[in-house]
Amino acid sequence: MEPADLLDWLGIEPDGLEAAPAPPARREILARVQAMPPRACVVCGDRAATVRIVSFPAAGWRWVDLCWDHGMAVRRRSRLPATLEGIAADLRAAAREASLPGAERITFYSSFEAAVRGRRDDEEPR
Ligand SMILES: [Zn+2]
Repeated sequence: MEPADLLDWLGIEPDGLEAAPAPPARREILARVQAMPPRACVVCGDRAATVRIVSFPAAGWRWVDLCWDHGMAVRRRSRLPATLEGIAADLRAAAREASLPGAERITFYSSFEAAVRGRRDDEEPR
Protein backbone atom coordinates (compact mmCIF):
# COMPACT_ATOMS: atom_id res chain seq x y z
CA MET A 1 0.00 0.00 0.00
CA GLU A 2 1.28 3.46 -0.83
CA PRO A 3 1.32 6.12 1.93
CA ALA A 4 -1.22 8.28 0.06
CA ASP A 5 -3.57 5.28 -0.18
CA LEU A 6 -3.20 4.58 3.56
CA LEU A 7 -4.03 8.17 4.47
CA ASP A 8 -6.93 8.27 2.03
CA TRP A 9 -8.26 4.97 3.37
CA LEU A 10 -8.13 6.35 6.94
CA GLY A 11 -9.65 9.69 5.96
CA ILE A 12 -6.54 11.71 6.84
CA GLU A 13 -6.47 14.94 4.84
CA PRO A 14 -3.06 15.90 3.36
CA ASP A 15 -3.85 19.58 4.02
CA GLY A 16 -3.26 18.86 7.72
CA LEU A 17 0.27 17.57 7.08
CA GLU A 18 3.39 19.75 7.04
CA ALA A 19 4.61 20.84 3.61
CA ALA A 20 7.77 19.00 2.56
CA PRO A 21 10.54 19.63 0.03
CA ALA A 22 10.44 17.65 -3.21
CA PRO A 23 12.40 14.39 -2.98
CA PRO A 24 15.14 13.38 -2.86
CA ALA A 25 15.67 15.47 0.26
CA ARG A 26 17.96 13.06 2.04
CA ARG A 27 19.46 15.57 4.48
CA GLU A 28 16.02 16.84 5.49
CA ILE A 29 14.66 13.29 5.83
CA LEU A 30 17.58 12.22 8.04
CA ALA A 31 17.22 15.34 10.22
CA ARG A 32 13.49 14.74 10.59
CA VAL A 33 13.87 11.07 11.56
CA GLN A 34 16.60 11.93 14.10
CA ALA A 35 14.83 15.00 15.56
CA MET A 36 14.29 15.14 19.31
CA PRO A 37 11.69 14.89 20.56
CA PRO A 38 10.59 12.38 17.91
CA ARG A 39 7.60 13.27 15.78
CA ALA A 40 4.26 11.52 16.10
CA CYS A 41 2.90 9.03 13.57
CA VAL A 42 0.32 10.89 11.46
CA VAL A 43 -1.94 7.82 11.62
CA CYS A 44 -1.91 6.71 15.29
CA GLY A 45 0.11 9.30 17.20
CA ASP A 46 2.75 6.82 18.41
CA ARG A 47 6.44 7.69 18.16
CA ALA A 48 7.41 8.03 14.49
CA ALA A 49 10.14 5.69 13.31
CA THR A 50 10.29 6.74 9.67
CA VAL A 51 9.11 9.45 7.34
CA ARG A 52 8.10 9.60 3.72
CA ILE A 53 7.69 12.60 1.47
CA VAL A 54 4.46 12.09 -0.43
CA SER A 55 3.01 14.02 -3.34
CA PHE A 56 -0.72 14.71 -3.15
CA PRO A 57 -2.52 15.97 -6.26
CA ALA A 58 -4.05 19.03 -4.57
CA ALA A 59 -1.78 19.53 -1.55
CA GLY A 60 1.64 18.95 -3.13
CA TRP A 61 4.60 17.47 -1.24
CA ARG A 62 3.86 16.63 2.40
CA TRP A 63 5.73 15.01 5.27
CA VAL A 64 4.17 11.70 6.34
CA ASP A 65 5.71 10.66 9.68
CA LEU A 66 4.97 7.02 10.52
CA CYS A 67 5.50 4.67 13.48
CA TRP A 68 7.13 1.30 12.91
CA ASP A 69 3.86 -0.55 12.20
CA HIS A 70 2.43 2.05 9.84
CA GLY A 71 5.84 2.44 8.18
CA MET A 72 5.88 -1.31 7.52
CA ALA A 73 2.33 -1.12 6.14
CA VAL A 74 3.52 1.22 3.39
CA ARG A 75 7.00 -0.12 2.79
CA ARG A 76 8.03 -0.33 -0.81
CA ARG A 77 7.32 -3.54 -2.65
CA SER A 78 10.10 -6.02 -2.89
CA ARG A 79 11.09 -6.80 -6.45
CA LEU A 80 12.24 -10.30 -5.55
CA PRO A 81 11.06 -12.89 -8.05
CA ALA A 82 8.23 -15.09 -6.79
CA THR A 83 9.11 -18.24 -8.70
CA LEU A 84 12.16 -20.49 -8.79
CA GLU A 85 12.49 -19.76 -12.51
CA GLY A 86 12.44 -16.02 -11.73
CA ILE A 87 15.17 -16.47 -9.12
CA ALA A 88 17.22 -18.55 -11.57
CA ALA A 89 16.80 -15.84 -14.23
CA ASP A 90 18.09 -13.21 -11.77
CA LEU A 91 21.03 -15.44 -10.86
CA ARG A 92 21.84 -16.02 -14.55
CA ALA A 93 21.77 -12.26 -15.15
CA ALA A 94 24.07 -11.64 -12.17
CA ALA A 95 26.41 -14.44 -13.30
CA ARG A 96 26.52 -12.97 -16.84
CA GLU A 97 27.29 -9.54 -15.39
CA ALA A 98 30.17 -11.05 -13.40
CA SER A 99 31.34 -12.99 -16.50
CA LEU A 100 31.10 -16.30 -14.62
CA PRO A 101 31.43 -19.46 -16.69
CA GLY A 102 28.21 -21.45 -17.04
CA ALA A 103 26.01 -18.43 -16.37
CA GLU A 104 23.42 -19.59 -18.93
CA ARG A 105 23.16 -23.06 -17.37
CA ILE A 106 22.21 -21.96 -13.83
CA THR A 107 19.05 -23.83 -12.90
CA PHE A 108 17.19 -25.31 -9.95
CA TYR A 109 16.50 -29.01 -9.49
CA SER A 110 13.62 -30.37 -7.45
CA SER A 111 15.82 -32.83 -5.60
CA PHE A 112 19.40 -33.91 -5.22
CA GLU A 113 18.65 -36.98 -7.32
CA ALA A 114 17.26 -34.84 -10.11
CA ALA A 115 20.40 -32.71 -10.02
CA VAL A 116 22.55 -35.82 -10.21
CA ARG A 117 20.55 -36.94 -13.22
CA GLY A 118 21.28 -33.51 -14.65
CA ARG A 119 17.74 -32.63 -15.55
CA ARG A 120 14.62 -31.20 -14.09
CA ASP A 121 11.55 -33.32 -13.49
CA ASP A 122 9.67 -31.61 -16.31
CA GLU A 123 12.38 -32.47 -18.83
CA GLU A 124 12.37 -35.67 -20.79
CA PRO A 125 14.89 -38.32 -19.68
CA ARG A 126 18.03 -38.41 -21.77
ZN1 LIG B 1 1.27 4.64 13.57
